[in-house]
Amino acid sequence: MAARHSISSDEGMQKLKEGNGRYVEDKILKPSINSLQRYELTTGQNPFAIILNCADSRVVPELIFDRGIGDLFVIRVAGNIANPSSIASIEYAVEHIGTNLIVVLGHESCGAVGAAIASYPDGDNGPNLNHLISFINPAVKAKPGAPIKEVVECNAAINATALISNSDIIRKYVDSGDLKVVPAYYGFTSGKVDFLNEK
Ligand SMILES: [Zn+2]
Repeated sequence: MAARHSISSDEGMQKLKEGNGRYVEDKILKPSINSLQRYELTTGQNPFAIILNCADSRVVPELIFDRGIGDLFVIRVAGNIANPSSIASIEYAVEHIGTNLIVVLGHESCGAVGAAIASYPDGDNGPNLNHLISFINPAVKAKPGAPIKEVVECNAAINATALISNSDIIRKYVDSGDLKVVPAYYGFTSGKVDFLNEK
């Protein structure tokens, strides 16, 4: 078990908010993407935040939060779902790197959420997409007839909760107060990330 990261969950949130503010205002600094930084990272990684992110090409955490290589531990899966593979990936960073912050980042016009809405409750999209959508369906069920933005936000919140309830490792560090799991919503036009709660 690694020591906890020197950057706390609250400090990590502040860094993400500051970086997103620069991105929104077209003032990104592009930190930590030069050859020196690459060299320094050859001996190990020390990301201060974990981002559970959709696969959508328009949602790029390092750009959205204006961070460089080695800063963010990003798991990408359509619909930013908490399935066993994404949870196991996150557990590695929480337990072995000591990262103290997880953001579950939904986004505007998410195709995976749209597919779940279109096929709910019993559409058949084949075994692979059916499996993925099964992790989004609880949000569709919770928001019948709602605009997709509300379903995306609900999906981020439900999967943030699922990370905690389905992982002994994540729950342990949430309970100790070291780790925060925060759902969020990214808007394409504004470029802004809204953190939906910071519990
Ligand atoms: Zn998406």
